[in-house]
Amino acid sequence: MSVTDRPDVDKEALRRKYLEERDKRLRPDGNDQYLRLTGELAHYLDDPYTPRTEREPRTDHVTVAFVGGGFAGLVTGARLKEAGVDDVRIIDKGGDFGGTWYWNRYPGAQCDTASYVYMPLLEETGHMPTEKYAHGPEILEHCRRIGKQYGLYDHALFHTEVQDLRWDESRSHWIVRTDRGDDFTAQFVAMGIGPLHVPKLPGIPGIESFGGHSFHTSRWDYGYTGGDPSGAPMDRLAGKRVAIIGTGATAVQCVPHLARACEELYVFQRTPSSVDVRDNRPTDPGWFAEIAEPGWQRRWLANFTANQSGAMPDEDLVMDGWTDIASRVRSRIMALPAEERSLERMLVAFEDADFEKMSEIRARVDAVVADPETAQRLKAWYRQLCKRPCFHDEYLQAFNLPGTHLVDTDGKGVQRLTETGVVAGGREYAVDCVIYASGFEVGTAWTRRAGFDLTGRDGVRLSERWAEGMRTLHGIHTHGFPNAFLVQLGQGANLVANIPHDLTESGRTIAAVIGHALAHGHREVEVSEQAENAWVELLGSGTGRILGAPGCTPGYYNNEGHESGQATGFRVGYPQGAVAYFAYLDRWRESGAFEGLEFRE
Ligand code: NDP
Repeated sequence: MSVTDRPDVDKEALRRKYLEERDKRLRPDGNDQYLRLTGELAHYLDDPYTPRTEREPRTDHVTVAFVGGGFAGLVTGARLKEAGVDDVRIIDKGGDFGGTWYWNRYPGAQCDTASYVYMPLLEETGHMPTEKYAHGPEILEHCRRIGKQYGLYDHALFHTEVQDLRWDESRSHWIVRTDRGDDFTAQFVAMGIGPLHVPKLPGIPGIESFGGHSFHTSRWDYGYTGGDPSGAPMDRLAGKRVAIIGTGATAVQCVPHLARACEELYVFQRTPSSVDVRDNRPTDPGWFAEIAEPGWQRRWLANFTANQSGAMPDEDLVMDGWTDIASRVRSRIMALPAEERSLERMLVAFEDADFEKMSEIRARVDAVVADPETAQRLKAWYRQLCKRPCFHDEYLQAFNLPGTHLVDTDGKGVQRLTETGVVAGGREYAVDCVIYASGFEVGTAWTRRAGFDLTGRDGVRLSERWAEGMRTLHGIHTHGFPNAFLVQLGQGANLVANIPHDLTESGRTIAAVIGHALAHGHREVEVSEQAENAWVELLGSGTGRILGAPGCTPGYYNNEGHESGQATGFRVGYPQGAVAYFAYLDRWRESGAFEGLEFRE
């Protein structure tokens, strides 16, 4: 009998408990509770991985400039190269391609969605992921592989931050200015800056007074810890007392490594993550050879998306933690007699599947963690998709090691830092090092996270145009900004469980539009205001959000519990779901009409 059918499971009590736990965490300052890494804190952003080299500023012209060298830039660059555009210039603040995988080299970094759908262009590059969930170094190497195969290194500018993008109406091109003195022009610009790339620190009083060592997880200091991103033991932490602040997806992956290396590890928790089974395994080359028939990755992507978005296909090719969530909901809905499948009943089935899953996850904590009090505090009391689900087979186990201590703050967070340690619950924990696993800016304005504004037609800035929220067609085109394209998650498929799928489809679309403009000698392409309005209206007509539902514990999925805000645009997707969106986008692109766009000579 499933947990939610048992007479002793009180669903009303669970709902109450979820709300009580959420209320403990609600705070009026929302996103303002976090610190930006500017001024005296700017050193937290220094690149520990690649030395910066001097170079001459660029003052030339390229056909396409792309801001961001992560998956978005790589897949768009690859498709543009295939479309015959040779001079694609990718600009990145990091020292190489990779984006999030360039920066996040903390020990244990690993993808949480199966590699076969997470890693882009596997078929094109002929790469077989070595594991079901590949580790960071392999994914970073794959980014380099794409860069090399498509010749994207030729024009790339690394350790370079765009400061200004300005449309030159008289010459129908963009002027690109950077912090390296570059001042060049591009007929087209595209931007894939990443959803989570601006590290943030918790706004804890006294943070600047801590006298020991400290760093953010996205700038891992192997010089201090020893070890390397492949998981070599961090030998320099022997004898050290280390605090890690935060227990999100990053901490879940690196805590086991820290626990093995430190003398004492203090894990400061505000909200526990839900940590489900990982069950990683090496890829069997024989099996891979069988599945890797022409077109396999697109088929797998489509199957994953269908499983995620309620399209309910008969088979689940991917079978990872995400499709498990979806298949449970599906089987409950399918168990309802056809005539009873009303929206209301389906939502009840969804909630039941969630109660069941979360009860299993909490039971797993009891089964794994030896100390009952620690186990109790590691349990997540919210619906699974309220916060980013985690999957790991060593995180909970780490709390059984004698040197690992959970410091649960009961939703309140760390109180303050002193010169020598971290204070929580009125007690000071003396430490040598503080590691901030405190995440990245999400709910703030796109231009703030980008670090630059666009000045489009008639001198209008993107920040002004989007003052009331993002407005786009397909999340890609925005009126008033000719020849400019965005690669980001909002206002398209809204498929958050496999972001690379979104990025790949956007890259394909941008390459098709630019290819069309170039082939027909069009100097400009711009979405009409009417088409943009119609799209925004269409998105507003659906529920469009699968994450951060009302009643959820605060986090970046729900703009830290504050309903309104720029984050709203992030959550809204195509009303009919991701499968329908990708099918629609295929048709839109392949018709060659590019309805809603205006091409000009
Ligand atoms: P998160 O934003 O998910 O986590 C930040 C953590 O810091 C939370 O536990 C938060 O608590 C805690 N925190 C913030 N302020 C305080 C405070 N004052 N005192 C104590 N704790 C505090 O960041 P992550 O870097 O873990 O992950 C960000 C995202 O990156 C993930 O959600 C995921 O989307 C992605 N990611 C993906 C991975 C993958 O695919 N393999 C791996 C890692 C990350 P609270 O929850 O209460 O706010």
